[in-house]
Parts: sequence; structure tokens; C-alpha cells
Amino acid sequence: MMYRQIQLRKGKDESLRRFHPWVFSGAIQRMDEGIGEGEVVRVVTNSGDFIAVGHYQQGSIAVRVLTFNDVAIDDDFWLSRLRSALSMRLAIGIADNPQNNTYRLVHGEGDNLPGLVIDRYGSTVVMQAHSVGMHVCREEIAKAIVDVMNGEVENVYYKSETTLPFKADLNQENGFLIGGSKDNVALENGLKFHVDWLKGQKTGFFVDQRDNRSLLEHYAKGRSVLNMFCYTGGFSFYAMRGGAKLVHSVDSSAKAIDLTNANVELNFPGDERHKAYAEDAFKYLEAMGDQYDLIILDPPAFAKHKDALRNALRGYTKLNAKAFEKIKPGGILFTFSCSQAVNKDQFRMAVFTAAAQSGRSVRILHQLHQPADHPINIYHPEGEYLKGLVLYVE
Ligand code: SAH
Repeated sequence: MMYRQIQLRKGKDESLRRFHPWVFSGAIQRMDEGIGEGEVVRVVTNSGDFIAVGHYQQGSIAVRVLTFNDVAIDDDFWLSRLRSALSMRLAIGIADNPQNNTYRLVHGEGDNLPGLVIDRYGSTVVMQAHSVGMHVCREEIAKAIVDVMNGEVENVYYKSETTLPFKADLNQENGFLIGGSKDNVALENGLKFHVDWLKGQKTGFFVDQRDNRSLLEHYAKGRSVLNMFCYTGGFSFYAMRGGAKLVHSVDSSAKAIDLTNANVELNFPGDERHKAYAEDAFKYLEAMGDQYDLIILDPPAFAKHKDALRNALRGYTKLNAKAFEKIKPGGILFTFSCSQAVNKDQFRMAVFTAAAQSGRSVRILHQLHQPADHPINIYHPEGEYLKGLVLYVE
């Protein structure tokens, strides 16, 4: 292979031998001259033996490993990685369900493609690069997607304005790499929703809550539901299908409230059980009464980095304490954290502290996590990020 090389310091190949897919900048002994942002590099041990091929980028994670084989990163490489991602989703029944055309096709390290996220919404996929290397390869990847999806995908929308490192100064604009559909209604477990891939958060919809929404549907019958941090209303329309008595959706973003109303209308036109409010969570929780017996708390990541951890845990405690204080006896609380920096024990401790402050009897019914189309590479435990608890509050 003609790739320029990065040589590791003595002993710094150990984590790579255990297939961890990152090389930290401190592990590097020397780099060939002229290696640029996003370039494919060959990583060798201190004694010069091959160990991995990956994307180089300035910063603390210097190389994101694409393969532990000494091969070229060419069209065949992308095709084979994408095929493997699709086969897994076919094998577990996610990618061939007529009731559900929404799922994550590629989940970064979880699919041995660090820095790349691809979500599918019907005939459109939204692709997001979190590394400069994936950005550089975006055209090849887009072509490979259409190829692998065998006619089922016609549009590839690239949405990396906010996910690429600011420093890299790529001035990347969002837009279609292939196709250009405006048809943005997709299907999750038989429920319809608009995906705002042009302006929405993430890839337009929070695909990772699919299984947890299904579980909520199961508990919704006859209950008064508060969906706090509703975004596009995912939990709300599941609660309605599950037979909720009323559903109130709350989000601080007025745009999110419009999307929620539109999605509820799409599935349950004219249904009077639903109301949505653009309000701050803490204000709403403070002012509300004790009318709810099913509450969902799915806040944005409180800790984006490790150093924000302590404040984040306090935030989770404060938020959950309000729910414990107000939820009706016999109520059910679905509470989540999507901060990767907060692990499940820390999150559980924050919720435990909130429960203890309320003095109520609380039982854990379920411990939730990200769904199977957001797999965790066993060699990369950092890939675990979504956790939730379902609690029965007496
Ligand atoms: N539960 C959603 C995803 C939630 S994302 C789903 O299933 O799709 C987090 C949401 O919290 C965002 O929509 C954001 O607008 C909202 N948000 C952030 N800060 C908030 C606050 N202080 N009060 C209310 N909503 C807030």
C-alpha cells in the first residue's frame, strides 16, 4: 500500500492489539511528512510491523481505525463494510420490516466505521460525518450506499455542518449528494412521521428510541401522559396508539412543538387527547399539578464531555426529583440519559438520589438501552451511550 505511515511509541500498540479502534495523539512516535487532515494512513508498531489502516485527524484521537488488515480503502472496502452493516440488520429483522422503514444503517465504531453515521428513512438516507476522513470519502460512501441498498434508496442527504470538527474549517454545507427528494414521511413500527432532515436535530429524528417507544405504548392504556423533551413527538404518538387518556408534549423549541403537532395529526387527525406546549422543562414541571401518571423524561445530553460530568449528574437529579415529587401514586416514569460521558451506574445513582429526596417507594421495572441497530463494538465500550430506567412510583 502507498499510504503514508504513522509509527507508534514502544508499547503503544497494545490497545490496537485488542482491536480498540482509536490511536491517541500521545501514542505517536513519528509521522511521515505531509500527512494531511482526513488522510488515510498506515499505522505501524515501534518496530515497524503493520497494525492498522485508518483516518488521520488532528486532535486527541489522531487515528480512527478502518481496518486491522493491510488493505486499500477503496470502493470495495466501503461496499464490504456497508454490506456487513446491512446483513446484520437483515439478520435481526430490522431492515426488512414493511411496518418500519426507519433505522440506523451505520453506527460508527459499532459497525467498524468510526466517524460515520447513516440513518435510513424510506427511500432517503441521511449521512453524517464525525471525522474529516469520512467527510473526504463522502462521495464514494454515498455511491456505495445506493449500490448496497439495491434500488431501495434513491436519495443520500449529507448533514455534517454541525458534526465535523470546527477547527478543520471545511465550510461544509448540508445537501443531497445523490437524488433530492422532498418526500419526508417515514414509518416507524407502523406510525408515520415527518423527518426534517433539512433542519432537524441529529439526522432528523431520534431513531434510537424506537424500542423504548414500543415499551411505552404497552403501558399507556388509560394513563395521563407527559412527554417531556418531546422533540418530534415520538413517544407521544406511541402513547396515543397505546390508548392513553391524554398526552401532553413539552419542548422548549417552538419548532419541535410544530413538528410534534404535525406528526400527531398525521397519525391521529383531529384527536383531542393531545396537546403540545413550547415551554422550558423546569418551568413546566414546577408549575404543573399531579395530573400525570406516565411521565417521560428524555433530555438532551447534559454532559457532552467528561469534565462536565458533575454538573450533569446534578442536572439529572434535579430533573428527576421534580417528576418523583409530582407523579401520581401508581405512576410510571420513563427516564433517560443520552450522555456518553455518564455511565449507567452514575445515571442510576443520580435517579436514586432524586427518588430518595422524594421519599417515595420506587421500583425499577426495566433497564433500557440503545437498540440493536445502534450496536456496540465489544472492543469499544465507549460506544454505549443511551440508558434509561422505567420506574413504578407508589
Ligand atoms: N424524546 C425525543 C428526543 C429528545 S431530544 C424523541 O423521542 O425524539 C431533546 C429535546 O429537548 C430537544 O428537542 C430540545 O429542544 C429539548 N430541550 C432542550 N432543553 C430543554 C429545556 N430546558 N426544556 C424543554 N425542552 C428542552
